[in-house]
Amino acid sequence: MKDRTVLVTGGSGGIGQEIVKRFVHDGYFTIIHYHSHAKRAEALQKELFTKGYENTMVVGADLTNPKEIDDLISTLEEKHIIVDILINNAGIKDDDRLEDMSDQQFKKVIEINVSAPFMLTKRIVPMMKNQRYGRIINISSGLAQHGGIGKINYGASKAAIENMTKNLAKELGPSGITVNTVAPGLIETEMTEDVTDKAKEEYISRVPIRRLVEAKDVAHACAFFADERSSAISNQVIGVNGGLR
Ligand code: NAP
Repeated sequence: MKDRTVLVTGGSGGIGQEIVKRFVHDGYFTIIHYHSHAKRAEALQKELFTKGYENTMVVGADLTNPKEIDDLISTLEEKHIIVDILINNAGIKDDDRLEDMSDQQFKKVIEINVSAPFMLTKRIVPMMKNQRYGRIINISSGLAQHGGIGKINYGASKAAIENMTKNLAKELGPSGITVNTVAPGLIETEMTEDVTDKAKEEYISRVPIRRLVEAKDVAHACAFFADERSSAISNQVIGVNGGLR
């Protein structure tokens, strides 16, 4: 059992669930965050408990709402829980080409994918600074670098989170906190249910390993950055994309 605690935002989602499983198996106390799918988070906790893993806790919050983030922090403080590792994984997409994308549609994606991790990180970092130890891992996307069609809002949000990583790595390094990015390629989750089989095949044909990457591959990169022995590794991006660049 490791003496470290990890908070996985979007732990109820496709990638988040695999990150949770990996950290629980690795012995971390793991906080499973959800927004609207409480039952999914609770079912995951139950599944892990049945397998003998009792080192989890479930928390709910709309991370675009500062009050809900404050309540989440208060819950942790009441239980004397210090977050050593924060994985900013929660995110959405809402695609449309420029002519069809509403102002609100653009703003919403930026709000959830950029403003929410900013607000949460700001509130968690004091815990990390106090103990002069922390790991922050932001989940971006290959689209941050490559761009795409119908993804102005999503691509901009992921480029922003990568830049937030760079800034925070410089600001927080002196306090013993590393900040890194994991940038996955296309992964089959609820978020990508609308991707057609034809589009997947075309994508796979461009991926050097000739398969889609999986959520557990993303979890592995997160585990690497979170490791205590990764203390010299900060301000980095790992692309979990099968070699597609
Ligand atoms: P997903 O299955 O749709 O999960 C999204 C997660 O975000 C859910 O846990 C959801 O919580 C949470 N969430 C949504 N709105 C929220 C809000 N307002 N406040 C707090 N949490 C909220 O998507 P995924 O594929 O696992 O994506 C996880 C991350 O990986 C995202 O940042 C995504 O951009 C990134 N990514 C995904 C892919 C891919 O191909 N799938 C590729 C590159 C990067 P509830 O379900 O409980 O509402």
